[in-house]
Amino acid sequence: MSDALLAKMDAWIDAHREELIGDLIRLINVRSVSAPPDDPENPFGQGCADALSLALEMGQEKGLYAEDYLGYVGRLSLTAGDADLGIWAHLDVVPEGENWVYAPFDALYQDGYVIGRGAADNKGPLIASLYLLRLIKELDIPFQKNLALYLGTNEEAGMADLIFYNDSGYQLPKISLVPDCAFPLCHAEKGIIEVKLSAMHAFSPSVLGLYGGLATNVVPDSAQIAIAYDEALLLKLDALPKELSYEVEDGAILLTARGITGHTAFPQGSQNAIRLLCEALLKAELLPPADLDLLYFISRINEDVYGTALHIDCSDEISGRLTAVGSVLRLNGEHCAELIVNIRYPVKAAGDRLIASINTACAQNRFRMELLKDSHPAFVPDTTPFVLELMEEYKAFTGDDAKPYSMAGGTYARRLPNAVGFGMGWQNPPQPPFLPAGHGGAHAPDEAVEIDGLLRAMKLYARVLLRLDAAGQAAKE
Ligand SMILES: [Zn+2]
Repeated sequence: MSDALLAKMDAWIDAHREELIGDLIRLINVRSVSAPPDDPENPFGQGCADALSLALEMGQEKGLYAEDYLGYVGRLSLTAGDADLGIWAHLDVVPEGENWVYAPFDALYQDGYVIGRGAADNKGPLIASLYLLRLIKELDIPFQKNLALYLGTNEEAGMADLIFYNDSGYQLPKISLVPDCAFPLCHAEKGIIEVKLSAMHAFSPSVLGLYGGLATNVVPDSAQIAIAYDEALLLKLDALPKELSYEVEDGAILLTARGITGHTAFPQGSQNAIRLLCEALLKAELLPPADLDLLYFISRINEDVYGTALHIDCSDEISGRLTAVGSVLRLNGEHCAELIVNIRYPVKAAGDRLIASINTACAQNRFRMELLKDSHPAFVPDTTPFVLELMEEYKAFTGDDAKPYSMAGGTYARRLPNAVGFGMGWQNPPQPPFLPAGHGGAHAPDEAVEIDGLLRAMKLYARVLLRLDAAGQAAKE
C-alpha cells in the first residue's frame, strides 16, 4: 500500500461525499420494514423488494456485477463468480415507532448528519460499502480477490434471508465482515435461546386474565392480572407497593404493575413488570394458595437476570455472564400460565446442556418446556490471522489500542463462517446537538448517521480491504 495510493483513495472518498449522501437519502426513503413472508415473489414485502432493486440498480450503474437471490439476498461484486471476501449489510429496517421530530422516510442532511430510519442501521454502512467497491473499480486498483457486498432483507426480523441463502447452498466467501456494530471488532456473539414454559395445572376461575410484555427481546414495563371481584380482596389492595395500581370494573379487579423497560440482552438496570406483579400477588396473597403455587416458579425465574432458578447461571471470560429474562406472560387456551424466557448465553456454554437444565427445572416445578429457538453463539478467536490483520490496521489508522469485544446482540456474523463485526460505527459517537436526548440512535426516533464518521470508516475499510487482498496472495505464494 503506497502512500500515494492511500492519498488517492482518501481524496476519492472525500470527493464523493455529496453523491453518497444523495444515494443514502434515496435508499432511506424506501420504507423497507421486513414484513412476514407472504408473496413468494417478495419474501419480505414490497418495501424490501423495492429497496433491494434500488440498491442493485445503484451498484450496476456504478459498474458492479449484480445478483438477486430470489429476493432474499442481493449481491454486488467486482467480478462475476465466487466471492472470496464478503461484506454483509442489511437493507431492512425496524419500524419507525413514535416521537420523531424529523420524517423517518423523508430523509435529509443537516449539520453533518443524515437523519432517517436506517441511516445508521444499516443503510449508511451499506451505501459506504457500495462506494468502496466503486472506488476499487474507478481507481483501477488491482484486486486479486473477488470482493462482494451482500444485501440482506430480513436481518431485523429473524434473519430468514440468510437462513434461506445458506439452506439453498449458495456460495459463501472465505472471510466476511459485517459493518453493523462499533469499531474496533466484535469477535464473539452470545447464543440466544428462547423457551416457552407452560404450567401443567390450570389457574382457578379467580384468575380471569394474565398479560405481560409485548416482544420476547424486551424487558416488559407493564404486566396485568384480572382477578374475579371479591370484597375481601379490596382491603389487601391498599397495602400494595407503589409500582402497582388497581381498578375495579365489570366484576373484576384489574391489577397493573409498572416497571422499567430495557433490552433482554442487557437487562441490568431494568425492572421487569412481570416480576413486580408476581411478587406483589405472592406477598399480599391475593389468590387462592394453588394459584400462588403456580405463580411462585414464574416469580423465581425473574428473581434475578442470570437464570438461577433454571439452574443455568454461568459465564466465560470471552463473553461474560448468561442472562435470562421471562419477558412475555400469557394465559393460554387451557387457562394455564405461559411464560417466554429469552436467554443470552456465553460463547463457551453448550446450548443443549442449558436446555436440558431448563427442562429439569421445569419438571420439578410442574411446568412444561417448549424450545422456540436456539441460535448458536458465534466466536472467532482473536488470534485468527485475518482478525490480527484487521486489528493491526485499525490501530495503525486510529492509534487506538482497543481489543476485540463480545456482544449479547446478534448480527449476520453469527450465521456466517469466519465472520466478525467490524464498524462502521465509532465508539461513543457524539449525540447530534440538534436532537433531544434519546433521539438519533439505531432503532430510536430520528436515527442519524454522522457523515464525517462514515467517510472515516470508509477510509479505514479501504485500507483493510487492500490488506486482506494482499494477505491472501501472500498465503498462496
Ligand atoms: Zn443492524
